Amino acid sequence: MNTFNLDIQFYKWVNNSANLIVQYFVITGILFLVFFIWKRQYVESAKIQQKYPDNKQIKRELFYSFIFLLMAGTSVTLIVWLNKHGYTRAYKPIDKYGWGYYFASFFLMILVHDTYFYWTHRLMHWKVIFIHVHKLHHEFTNPTPFTSYAFNPIEGAIQLGVLYVIVFTIPHHSSVVTAFFGYALIVNLVFHTGYEFLPKWFVKHWALKWINTSVHHNLHHQNLKSNFGYYFNFWDAIMKTNNRRYNEHFEAIADRRTKAKVFDDGIEEKVLTPDTLT
Ligand SMILES: [Zn+2]
Ligand SMILES: [Zn+2]
Repeated sequence: MNTFNLDIQFYKWVNNSANLIVQYFVITGILFLVFFIWKRQYVESAKIQQKYPDNKQIKRELFYSFIFLLMAGTSVTLIVWLNKHGYTRAYKPIDKYGWGYYFASFFLMILVHDTYFYWTHRLMHWKVIFIHVHKLHHEFTNPTPFTSYAFNPIEGAIQLGVLYVIVFTIPHHSSVVTAFFGYALIVNLVFHTGYEFLPKWFVKHWALKWINTSVHHNLHHQNLKSNFGYYFNFWDAIMKTNNRRYNEHFEAIADRRTKAKVFDDGIEEKVLTPDTLT
């Protein structure tokens, strides 16, 4: 019987939401402590924007992330129930389609999400919708790890919508959906932590330039009119929505890092030591 037992599902929702909340705040908390407090001086040259956010911004990010995580807990609970009762394209065991498909389905999910994100994101930048849906995420022009899930709840529902697109259209093993959800979060954290460590040649490499970087999304937070993509640069390139100064910004940060490294290596200090003078 496909009955929906409210008591049991409520318990599962609390459990799923609590897990997501703990995982998210532990990871973002560590990133914040390391990059914004503990090692701030050591990584300063890699900071994309050289200013730091105020407490008011962080409090708002924490609040809206918390709401989003409760919504994500709801989606996880519902999807697990839908999977269990055969309403989605979930399958078991892995042998049914083999290991090749098991891994391919992960990349398929990434591609579907990339397209879903670009187009829903473009839609949310349409003036009428933007004010009520996406403006909140753009309040945070200088993102922190906590910006990753800081959405207006309507945008939160749109962002979570990709999970339903995936489970209803792609034959999947549930562990792959979990891996996909985790990977999407990692990329999101990289995009919002506000630092760039990739080498200067990355954006000129024939293949790697198609992978978006932290600078790419950070520029979107600084300038709303460009850089709408997520994992890959395909859609921004096809639709000509890449920030024209993307490479320039990216390379400037790489140069700043190199200069800071020269200084850290003590070349300046060496000139002044008695040993170097004799
Ligand atoms: Zn946007
Ligand atoms: Zn963002």
